[in-house]
Amino acid sequence: MPITTTALRHRTAGGGVPRGSLSDIAEGGTGQVVSHVRELIERGALKPGDRLPAERDLATQIGVSRPTIRAGLRTLAAMGVVRSRHGSGTYIPDGPPALNTDALSFLAALHGFTREDMYEARRILEVGAAGLAAERATPEQVATLAEEVASLFASMQDPRVFLVHDINFHRGVAAASGNPIVASLVEMVSALYYERRRETAARASERDLRDAAEMHRRIYQAIRARDVDTAKRAMHDHLIQASRHQAQERPKAAKAGRRAAAQ
Ligand SMILES: [Zn+2]
Repeated sequence: MPITTTALRHRTAGGGVPRGSLSDIAEGGTGQVVSHVRELIERGALKPGDRLPAERDLATQIGVSRPTIRAGLRTLAAMGVVRSRHGSGTYIPDGPPALNTDALSFLAALHGFTREDMYEARRILEVGAAGLAAERATPEQVATLAEEVASLFASMQDPRVFLVHDINFHRGVAAASGNPIVASLVEMVSALYYERRRETAARASERDLRDAAEMHRRIYQAIRARDVDTAKRAMHDHLIQASRHQAQERPKAAKAGRRAAAQ
């Protein structure tokens, strides 16, 4: 392959030297792609929500083939650094970095995560996150939580819409914890929770949804009031109650199936 001047410039600039653990797991050309994208992020040339250059342009910039670019992008996607949207390219996701949940989904399929496993993990992460949010939430973050609570009350007739706002509320609390590791872990568990829950969300009764909306309001009010203990207790109580409600749900449609037992 002829070495273009652009490729040469990038090679001599040392753009392809893998460093740090992020690129260690990707070897050779793939590692160069990972390093290159990381440099663009570190330089501020790529920010959350931005679209990556086209494959062709990346191939020219880095001096590797397009299949290598694609392999590199798959690695970055698995790390949660980029997300590809069909037909419109590859993007840096908005919000906290979320590890691709495929690995977790496989684990769930292999080892059969139970509903209780999921809620226990959520309690471990989110009770602490609620306490931190009460200490650290910015006014904008508090406002976001207020909007999600209002949306929860407005969507009690539609359990699937309710679920989306429910998850957004919890992501909002995690983001307000100010700890990016906690936020990423909550993001990952939320994605898995959503994947499972959207199939059964319609079973929730309106009474349960009203109770749940009320619990979210309590969490929000405690965070707004900077009341750490109340925020933690409210989150704990909410997750216990949500798990209990879900355990009592019965399929409304005939399409019950084996999955019901696992939920
Ligand atoms: Zn909730």
